[in-house]
Amino acid sequence: MKELENRIQEDGRVIGKDILKVDSFLNHQIDPQLMLAMGQEFARLFANQGVTKILTVEASGIAPAVMAGLEMKVPVVFARKSKSRILSDAAFTADVYSFTKQTSNAIRIDKRFLSADDHVLLIDDFLANGQALLGLKEIADQAQATVVGAGIVIEKSFQPGRDNAINAGIQNIHSLARIAAFENGQVCFVDEEK
Ligand code: 5GP
Repeated sequence: MKELENRIQEDGRVIGKDILKVDSFLNHQIDPQLMLAMGQEFARLFANQGVTKILTVEASGIAPAVMAGLEMKVPVVFARKSKSRILSDAAFTADVYSFTKQTSNAIRIDKRFLSADDHVLLIDDFLANGQALLGLKEIADQAQATVVGAGIVIEKSFQPGRDNAINAGIQNIHSLARIAAFENGQVCFVDEEK
């Protein structure tokens, strides 16, 4: 998505060798117009696939997920993070290792909000190692819901997230911006034409 790539080039900051900071428009301060355009793009990419629900993880996945849900006219459920994996009859849970925080969190979704009838679209702000997607897939599996695909705002294609998600059975992964590499602090995008 050209508009997103341009914004990343203008306002993104590369931190170290593998982190992109985009907190001026994506995950701290939010640009609602850009967020809405991204939701519309997700709706276009996943049209006619019978999506009944969007799943994401708090906090940074919520804004793009809500915009997609608005366009697709389906509810959005965000997994809550908690320190420990408290086994509960009332919730589906999975452990997720956070790429940026380097700690493991349990994520949970109340059983009232996901069922075997659901066709679920997973949405997140970044795809790095794929841990968040794998956790959401595990929760969808517990509910016997069908995962129809994953929509990612920014994919770092030099990390193994896409392969890990495919190996976990997540098909149909679409990213609005795919980063091939960081070179001298500059962002290089995957050339989708090739
Ligand atoms: P994964 O679960 O794919 O290993 O990592 C994705 C999660 O880690 C996202 O939900 C996002 O919050 C965070 N993350 C991963 N890489 C980056 C990054 O380069 N920048 C920021 N801001 N967050 C990231």
